Amino acid sequence: MTQLIESIAALRAALEPTRRAGRTIGLVPTMGALHAGHVALIERARAECNVVVVTLFVNRLQFNQAADFELYPRTVESDLAACAAAGADYLFAPPQQEMYPDEPRTFVEVEELTEGLCGAFRPGHFRGVATVCAKLFHIAGADRAYFGEKDFQQLAVIRRVVRDLNFPLEIVGVPTVRELDGLAMSSRNARLGAAERAAAVVLWRAIEAARRAFADGERGAAELLAVARRPLDAEPLARTEYVELVDPETLAPLERVEGESRLALAVWIGDVRLIDNAPLK
Ligand code: AMP
Repeated sequence: MTQLIESIAALRAALEPTRRAGRTIGLVPTMGALHAGHVALIERARAECNVVVVTLFVNRLQFNQAADFELYPRTVESDLAACAAAGADYLFAPPQQEMYPDEPRTFVEVEELTEGLCGAFRPGHFRGVATVCAKLFHIAGADRAYFGEKDFQQLAVIRRVVRDLNFPLEIVGVPTVRELDGLAMSSRNARLGAAERAAAVVLWRAIEAARRAFADGERGAAELLAVARRPLDAEPLARTEYVELVDPETLAPLERVEGESRLALAVWIGDVRLIDNAPLK
């Protein structure tokens, strides 16, 4: 059974005995509309921590488009059931008023890492993410927090916040869970119409095409990116925002892929923005 908690005070009170007994708390921050990707995070936390707290908060600070915030799916009842099935102890789902009783005047801002990729197209997004995660880390007093590799830049940004600000917790990255055809699971997939859903697989096709070229010996980033762009350009329902090859830690663009790398892309399918990424090596 998962207990639904809506206030910060109630969550702190519930977790106090756990912390005092030296038992570990695992945190899984989400914006709800839980799917198998979220479940993988919860199950990993369940396997590694004594108490598992899933958080559900659609954080308006990280939305740079009002419509995206308003249209974001809200499904608390089924999320609670998914948490119970995956073995979470608590679902912390605070109202907006609880997290932002006043207009916030303190923010966590990560430089450099947030300039490229999604950061270039979503001004303020990572500031919102870093700020709400800092709040959630403090509220829960977690020992570990679980994030998906699906949001690769987010994972890098959060790791950096924890390192720079000495948060006493470990960040765990969990591999991306995909649909059978390769589409990365996302709460936004529910907004795709049938034709758009079929077209959305093109993100994975782009990754696979670049991986094949890499396996065949291509190492030039420009050449690999051109290969990735081919299926995207051929899909009439897709509008590519970016495709980049970056260093997985610094997120700096690569010219050649000799060591570790990450291909990352953002593509609009209709009016839904999808992202994906994968290592070439
Ligand atoms: P969201 O609810 O979309 O903010 O995501 C909450 C957490 O789930 C983030 O750490 C995401 O990276 C992670 N996540 C979302 N989709 C997936 C997926 N398909 N596979 C693994 N993790 C995911």
